[in-house]
Amino acid sequence: MSIQGYANQFVCDLVAYEPGKPVEETARELGLDPSQIIKLASNENPFGPSPLAKEAMTKALDEAHIYPDGGAWKLRNAIAEKYGVEMGNVVLGNGSNEIIELMCHCFLRPGAALIAAEHAFVVYKLMATLFGADYVEVPDPEFVHDLEAMADAITPETRLVFVANPNNPTGTLVGQEAIDRFVERLPEHVVAVFDEAYHEFLSDAPDTVKYVREGRNVVVMRTFSKAQGLAALRIGFGLAPKAIADVLHKARQPFNANAIAQAGALAAIEDEAHVRKTVENNEAGLAYYHEEFTKRGLQYVPSVANFVLVEVGDGDRVFAEMLKKGVIVRAMRSYKLPGWVRISVGTPEQNRRCLVVLDEILAG
Ligand SMILES: *Cc1c(COP(=O)(O)O)cnc(C)c1O
Repeated sequence: MSIQGYANQFVCDLVAYEPGKPVEETARELGLDPSQIIKLASNENPFGPSPLAKEAMTKALDEAHIYPDGGAWKLRNAIAEKYGVEMGNVVLGNGSNEIIELMCHCFLRPGAALIAAEHAFVVYKLMATLFGADYVEVPDPEFVHDLEAMADAITPETRLVFVANPNNPTGTLVGQEAIDRFVERLPEHVVAVFDEAYHEFLSDAPDTVKYVREGRNVVVMRTFSKAQGLAALRIGFGLAPKAIADVLHKARQPFNANAIAQAGALAAIEDEAHVRKTVENNEAGLAYYHEEFTKRGLQYVPSVANFVLVEVGDGDRVFAEMLKKGVIVRAMRSYKLPGWVRISVGTPEQNRRCLVVLDEILAG
């Protein structure tokens, strides 16, 4: 038998996550200069990292030979203060993606189940599969999470329900009332995880942190990858009631959040100006895309995040053709949306160029 026969079958069967195509790789393949290429494929910050974070990280490099503070005292305290929780409620992750993994580590096993929406962020499914658990998908009419149906899907085997809010790739939000009703319905053996990676972009964000303060079975996930522009550093966090946070801490590697990332994130928390600039640009960019898609009669999902899902006919073809012209977007076949692409909001100039290229391809 090949050695793979001895590996866990559910791991071998996994279809690996396909990230947005990197600029460098595209430049190499097309023989272009990287500066000629724009990437609107991974919902990154078009203005780059927070300048305050950059400065703090440069300083932190002097201590790169020292192991990080595994307890991340400064950063966890700063996060706790900002969100009105205790340091014991804060768990750092190597990106908030790691919090997803830690939750699955702690609560899933073969026979247990994770519930998510039909067009939810794909990492939930990957992680449920990785732990040999059942992945239960609940339809999301009009691309909006149906929290009543998700609560109805809970069984004695259910341990986790993931709600991406706003969701990626749909950009849709569920509001406070629906969330409140949903949390009321949670049985004691189930944890609801609200993945709020795009929280900063919302003008009217629902409050889920109150449930963490109340000690309910609710975990809130946030990240420094999007509005703060620190995606390369891999730093995010979960806010969890102490009983859940304590278990998550047991499952993580001792130095899962590296020292440079901790320093950058700590400074980024203070950099409200960078977030404000990013959010203002995003509002204008969203309005621009929505309006331009409407003019062209293209079907799109109105978004409150920093990207828009738009129907273009053949998503793989449009992705490939746009790539040749130096604009990287994301094809959506892996989300069972083969006719759609997802476009991140860039600078006004990047957004305009993206539409010029899209027009050329849809005309051709
Ligand atoms: C981008 C994103 C994340 C953040 O991932 P990091 O690991 O923190 O970079 C988490 N959830 C969703 C839904 C996302 O779109």
